[in-house]
Amino acid sequence: MENKKPVVFFRNDDVRDSLDSSLIEFTNLILGHGVPVSHAAEPANISKEVAEWLNSKKNEFPGLLEIIQHGYDHNLNNPTEKMEFGGNREYGDQLKDIAEGKKLMDTYFRNNWTHVFTFPYGTYNQATLKAVNDSGYEAISSKIQFSTRSRVKNKVGKMLGKDIILGKKVNYHPGTRKGYRFKEISVSANLIKKYTGLSTADHYSLNEIKEQIRIAGKYTSTIGVLFHHRFHHKHLSLINDLIIHLKAEKFRFQTFAEMIK
Ligand SMILES: [Zn+2]
Repeated sequence: MENKKPVVFFRNDDVRDSLDSSLIEFTNLILGHGVPVSHAAEPANISKEVAEWLNSKKNEFPGLLEIIQHGYDHNLNNPTEKMEFGGNREYGDQLKDIAEGKKLMDTYFRNNWTHVFTFPYGTYNQATLKAVNDSGYEAISSKIQFSTRSRVKNKVGKMLGKDIILGKKVNYHPGTRKGYRFKEISVSANLIKKYTGLSTADHYSLNEIKEQIRIAGKYTSTIGVLFHHRFHHKHLSLINDLIIHLKAEKFRFQTFAEMIK
């Protein structure tokens, strides 16, 4: 049996209205390496210009550029409230936003998008999961950590078949939870250490990111790296070096569509 190297996937959040150099250069850098990237678009905020650009890139690089959904409107009207889904929001209320978002995704991207749902700020509750399930998504993507505490929580939670345990979300990465049809494929590495402004952030060093990936690789063979392109405009060389490292380590790169198969 072939000993396959782990899979790495790149998820880029907060694709919205602005077709600026941070989105274009980030995308071109990754595609230039022949590596796939999954852009998570905010259906209520995306502009026609960005949608058309994504569609044309998708046509140019059908196996590499992927479009998925990032919430509905990211609750952009309330920037201090770091939550869109979850909290005390009820099923019907969340279903309305999710279904409306899906309709917009269909309008903008037709067959060009993959039915994966990601949560702005990573927040959701059980009703969100049910609404996502009932809307027919094939996968969700959240965040998974591998500290001892997180691993115990996820192990116990999965054994008990819970979505939430002691107020903490149980992560089923990379699998399916009982009672739901979608798969969960979460990210475990991140470039941003601290946000310092609307489009600026302190980034981890290449060695720190390599270490996040090495640790994740001890516990999973599906490793997601989370990007936020608008913060990375001065860190493209870091991303370039990261890709060179991952290629040298012979990781396989995949899209969600390939991982869901
Ligand atoms: Zn976001």
